[in-house]
Amino acid sequence: MSSRLPRRVFLRRTALATASLPLLPGRFVSRAAPNPPVRVPLVDYHAHPDNSTIEKIVALGGARGVKLGLVEHAGTKENDYPVVLSNDAELLGWIAQLDGKGVYKGVQAEWTDWMGCFSPAVLGKLDYVLTDAMTMPGKRGQRVKLWLPSAVDEMGMDEPEKFMDRYVEWHVQTMATEPFDILGNTSWLPDKLAADWDRLWTPARMDRVIAAAVKYGVALEISASYKLPRLPFLRRIKEAGVKFSLGSNGRYPNMGKLDYSLEMARALDLGPEHMFTPAPDGQKAVQRRQL
Ligand SMILES: [Zn+2]
Repeated sequence: MSSRLPRRVFLRRTALATASLPLLPGRFVSRAAPNPPVRVPLVDYHAHPDNSTIEKIVALGGARGVKLGLVEHAGTKENDYPVVLSNDAELLGWIAQLDGKGVYKGVQAEWTDWMGCFSPAVLGKLDYVLTDAMTMPGKRGQRVKLWLPSAVDEMGMDEPEKFMDRYVEWHVQTMATEPFDILGNTSWLPDKLAADWDRLWTPARMDRVIAAAVKYGVALEISASYKLPRLPFLRRIKEAGVKFSLGSNGRYPNMGKLDYSLEMARALDLGPEHMFTPAPDGQKAVQRRQL
């Protein structure tokens, strides 16, 4: 075809050529480019052991082709969860349960005082520690679960800008004062504010969280369950060189469901070099952070 063909004629000819493609009955012909393959290792670092047995969970991960990192809640007994590991003996029991199962051994650390429950040597036997920012101190320092309806008044969410500033500082404080490897549920917002996610997560707020992640060597999770963070936040994370982890926050049978995380990994062209992997002995957050 002549390169000097007027554009309008070219388009018309292309349209005609496309329209006359022979279509076989019952056969779907897609002209869209196939999805590029996902280049990141399929690991769900945020799988909770609730509702099942380790054996069934491991089998499910295998069936989905996803390696699992299992996290049990860890902290003082004041944290209200079905199971909360609160001392070395309980943590060692958890680690023993996972031994030889082909999974990563993790905990989801709760509140600000979990480190005092365990000795550094036993914490160092874990592959990683994950936490999130969803439990936050209220005005009197009390523990507020931001997902509960009562948190709206308790945290002053009727003033979203003020709340967001405090929430961002809480992210920074958590990373500065607790030795963990992965921040789960990154950029999650309470129901009351979720519809305004794009407006409330300003670039300045994103960058404050990202700078802390850089400073303290924390990986940021792409949450498949919350479908967060969205692309503008993820692009800034990638640009800053912060590692990503993929997480479902899934209880049985939802662990290993990583659709959104993988969609984002593909959109950002993430490769293994962008991803969190458990640090070697001596380099885990509980070992390298002097707190
Ligand atoms: Zn969780």
